[in-house]
Amino acid sequence: MSNRTFTMIKPDATKKGHTGAILGMINAAGFKIVAMKMTKLSKEKAGEFYAVHAARPFYGELVEFMSSGPITAAILEKDNAVEDFRKLIGATNPAEAADGTIRKLYAASIGENAVHGSDSNENAAIEGDFFFSKLEQF
Ligand code: GDP
Repeated sequence: MSNRTFTMIKPDATKKGHTGAILGMINAAGFKIVAMKMTKLSKEKAGEFYAVHAARPFYGELVEFMSSGPITAAILEKDNAVEDFRKLIGATNPAEAADGTIRKLYAASIGENAVHGSDSNENAAIEGDFFFSKLEQF
C-alpha cells in the first residue's frame, strides 16, 4: 500500500467550484484515482479525523471549517505517492506554496487551504480506511 495516498478537496475549494480543475491536476501529475466520493463531514467526524491536532490552538477552527460544507475524498495511486502528492499540493500556508502547486493556485489561507494530503504511508492507509470500506478501494 506504500504507493497510495489519501486526499480531500476541502469545503473552500468545493464551494468555489475548483473540484474538476483539481482532479484534472491530480490526473495530469500521474495519479490514478482508486477510490472517490463526495460527502460532508459532521463536526464529530471532522474532530475524529483531525484528532491528532486536538491540542493545537486552531483545532476548533479546523473542525468547524472541515464540517462547513461538502468535500471530495479520494485515494490516489502512484509510485512514491505520499511524497509526490505533498509536492503537488505545496506548503500548508498557500503564501509559502511553490508556483504551480494546487494550494498556490486554489487556496485562500493556511486554514482554508483547498486540499489535504497524507503525511506518511501509515496515515494514508488509516485515512483511506476512515472514508472507504475495502470494497470501495480499487
Ligand atoms: P498539512 O499536512 O499541510 O495539511 O498541515 P498540518 O498537518 O500542519 O495541518 C492540518 C490542517 O490544519 C491544515 O491543512 C490546515 O487546514 C489546518 N491548519 C494548520 N495550521 C493552521 C493555522 O494556523 N490556522 C488554521 N485555522 N488552520 C490551520
